[in-house]
Amino acid sequence: MIGHPDGRGVAASERPAIAVIGGGIIGLAIGWRLAAAGCRVDVFDAGRAGQGATRAAAGMLAADAEAEPGEQALLPLNRLSRSLWPAFAAELEAASGLTVDLRWDGTVQIALSADDTARLRHHHAFARSLGLEQHWLTGAEALRREPHLRPGLGGALFSPGDGQVDNRKVAAALVVALRRAGGRLHEDRAVEEVVVERGRATGVRVAGTLHRADRVVLAAGAWSRRIPGIPPEALPPVRPVKGQMLALRMDPAAPLLRGVVWTPTAYLVPRADGRLIVGATVEERGFDDRLTAGGVYALLDGVWRALPGVEDLPIDEMWTGLRPGSRDDAPVLGPCPVDGLVLATGHHRNGILLAPVTADAVAGFVLTGDLDAAARPFTLDRFRECAA
Ligand SMILES: Cc1cc2nc3c(=O)[nH]c(=O)nc-3n(C[C@H](O)[C@H](O)[C@H](O)COP(=O)(O)OP(=O)(O)OC[C@H]3O[C@@H](n4cnc5c(N)ncnc54)[C@H](O)[C@@H]3O)c2cc1C
Repeated sequence: MIGHPDGRGVAASERPAIAVIGGGIIGLAIGWRLAAAGCRVDVFDAGRAGQGATRAAAGMLAADAEAEPGEQALLPLNRLSRSLWPAFAAELEAASGLTVDLRWDGTVQIALSADDTARLRHHHAFARSLGLEQHWLTGAEALRREPHLRPGLGGALFSPGDGQVDNRKVAAALVVALRRAGGRLHEDRAVEEVVVERGRATGVRVAGTLHRADRVVLAAGAWSRRIPGIPPEALPPVRPVKGQMLALRMDPAAPLLRGVVWTPTAYLVPRADGRLIVGATVEERGFDDRLTAGGVYALLDGVWRALPGVEDLPIDEMWTGLRPGSRDDAPVLGPCPVDGLVLATGHHRNGILLAPVTADAVAGFVLTGDLDAAARPFTLDRFRECAA
């Protein structure tokens, strides 16, 4: 145990020093929790905080709609984190004085063709076998929820427990909350090396200077394998998975869509300010983060097929992001073979959803040396067991 339950009244030099690599939602949330617990926290980002995958995301908290065959192990973590979001958002809003637009409208997955309907029915059966709350809607019922959807839908699946949050607002709020809790954020300060001495991480090198720390948290998203100094056996199996996205501008007083809708080829996320986020491609392109004609075309085609009224909407923005995908699409959390180096990466397509549970589990591990039971299936060890 290195932490003081409450750092107030403890001399700064006696408080544990934590270096966090990466100022995305994961590094910021962990840094905020640790600073609030009395640690001396320094978060380093190679660019501006929150501008990586965290900025690119759609902010869906879609634990139920996301449930996929083969990912059953991840479902309890996703659902636990979703249940933590209301308190996390309230605490963050109070700590920062900023809003994050958390909404619980559910997710509607729609079928446009007979094949889509068969696929959705199969998905429904799978979800029911897991005990998830999902309701089948006829095409007419789906249209009553969202009247601007294309008529003649084959049906829809409604997950009432899902929600959304404005991920960009979350990042902005975390920056303020981290600083108010006494944490320091160093932007445009890439970590050049994790310094490991006699098998233990003792700090990070930034701009040629050694910054000593009792614990180093690796939260560099898709770039987590690119930080020099980490021995191969401690590197998480994380790679960039590119996503292209765009936003259309609706009239906020008369939006075409009120809640999150998944079409067979795109998802549509309406924001309170009238933006309609349309996402996302899933591409293995390494660190190539350029927009492409094919990617943007696929998104526009996907939204237009489901919501013909978008035809005249202005395009507000187009962008790409790199999801930190792991080998099994689940995060990599907690200890690794290097003492003092703590992993918090690999959140792939659910890093916004998983931020509260990750922050609690990783901060808890840093403070007590004990990894919460919910996070234990997600340590680096699981990949070594596979290899054995
Ligand atoms: C298109 C798209 C849509 C998505 N939609 C959703 C969604 O709806 N719901 C959901 O839950 N998740 C979603 N995700 C996933 C989610 O965005 C990510 O899982 C999450 O943002 C990962 O957060 P992170 O902090 O680990 O990574 P990032 O936000 O990428 O942050 C990593 C940070 O590390 C920094 N860094 C890199 N190298 C260094 C270095 N050497 N030194 C210091 N800093 C460094 C980077 O500059 C970056 O800021 C989506 C992702 C994408 C790309």
